[in-house]
Amino acid sequence: MDVKKMFINGEWTESFSGKTYEVLNPATNEVVATVAYGSTEETAQAIKAASNAFPSWASLTAKERSSYLIKLYDLMLKEKEELARLITLEMGKPIREARGEVELAAEYLLWNAEEGKRVYGENIPSSSPSKRIQVIKQPIGPVGAIIPWNFPISMLTRKMGPALAAGCTFVLKPASKTPGCAIRLFELIEQVKFPKGVANLVIGSSSDIGNELLKNPAIKKITFTGSTQVGKKLIEGSAEHVKKVSMELGGHAPFIVFEDADLEEAAEGAIISKFRNSGQTCICLNRLFVQQSVKEKFESILTKKVKALKIGNGIEESTELGPLVDKAALEKVEFQVEDAIKKGAQLLTGGNRCDIGGLFYEPTLLSNVNKNMDITYEETFGPVAPIYVFDSEEEVIHAANDTEYGLAAYFFTKDLGRTIRVSEKLDYGIIGINDAVPTTVQAPFGGLKQSGLGREGGHQGIEEYLETKFISIKF
Ligand code: NAP
Repeated sequence: MDVKKMFINGEWTESFSGKTYEVLNPATNEVVATVAYGSTEETAQAIKAASNAFPSWASLTAKERSSYLIKLYDLMLKEKEELARLITLEMGKPIREARGEVELAAEYLLWNAEEGKRVYGENIPSSSPSKRIQVIKQPIGPVGAIIPWNFPISMLTRKMGPALAAGCTFVLKPASKTPGCAIRLFELIEQVKFPKGVANLVIGSSSDIGNELLKNPAIKKITFTGSTQVGKKLIEGSAEHVKKVSMELGGHAPFIVFEDADLEEAAEGAIISKFRNSGQTCICLNRLFVQQSVKEKFESILTKKVKALKIGNGIEESTELGPLVDKAALEKVEFQVEDAIKKGAQLLTGGNRCDIGGLFYEPTLLSNVNKNMDITYEETFGPVAPIYVFDSEEEVIHAANDTEYGLAAYFFTKDLGRTIRVSEKLDYGIIGINDAVPTTVQAPFGGLKQSGLGREGGHQGIEEYLETKFISIKF
């Protein structure tokens, strides 16, 4: 049996206990791979490797570190098809979306390879003629990273790119559902010949690996993308050693269609935002607010488009909507739809498991949704769009902000004044105005409120991996 392994200190490593597990394709339930299942000891060894590698990696010039990342960027693009195929096999995303993810993931490496060269310090005028004040930036140290399954490659490079560019070393725990994507990327890391221990991969028990990353004092920073629930545990666990944390957590994005919007464009945007990755996206539309005067027209345009979406195995080129990732995800969607209908929502389309069986759920639109329904406050993570109506700008801003989350928000309008008023009043870290896909390497991605701490991407992203040191020189 070919067992896929972890990557620790530059060596492919089986779990010390010999334990393995099987990764299943959510579209077919077939076994994609058998993978080593590690725990505390393997994590401790990976941390030791990252710790040993840190001084020499940190002392390379930014240009030298950058050259490794650029080589990895080139290799990723050469391997785009294979990486995309692995994403689709492991988590079900349509292959065309998976290709887009790999391209974006590679861009995070290139962007940070450049940003690493621009980690500037400061010279600050002193109030004493015989003193000079200097501020320098230095890498935090070995980093522990935990990522989810929904963007298994781009979440990896969005963390590893800035960490390595800044001079930190890296220990990654991928999601149990998508280890093969990380393993393939680490094969490319091996080909690039990064120094041993700079990047390490541990797979297995999330609580054991997570605990070791938290308890081991050699890890100086925890970076996490995933649910708010797990994020809170990690923040708590980081307190013992006062580790730095970055948290990219859940979302509950409002998507607002004002009466002056281009309704065709807004409907296209809603489809991309809601049904990309079958709705399993942290920034995806969770609540669709439509102004009363255009409700009927907009619902009719949107319903027609949603009915035309093609569902199937993501590996087929024409598929637009793949399966949900597992049974729990399917049941959560079913629960939210049933709960909403029971409490008075009207089904415009969908509302059932697909007749192709397995983990497929129909793209669903619910109208007349209200605050008493579970879907209004709980993240859906599935292909269901609940529609709410509103009359005024003030009313919809209030409703949109009525959530513990604050990751992304969208609105469609042609009114210039409204773009400024509304974007400034929405309590969200990312705002898309007439733009349903705002994510880009150049901009800081991250949330307010319980959607997280810190930013990834932009020139801000690398700051998360740097310490600021103030040096006072008297002469
Ligand atoms: P999750 O259950 O929080 O899992 C995310 C990662 O945390 C996985 O690697 C998981 O490992 C690990 N994990 C689980 N329990 C842990 C523990 N006790 N200690 C340490 N690690 C632990 O989230 P998910 O269901 O995979 O992902 C969906 C969530 O991620 C959604 O809420 C979504 O909004 C959010 N998300 C946010 C962003 C963003 O940028 N803000 C981006 C993508 C997704 P196992 O796989 O082994 O369980």
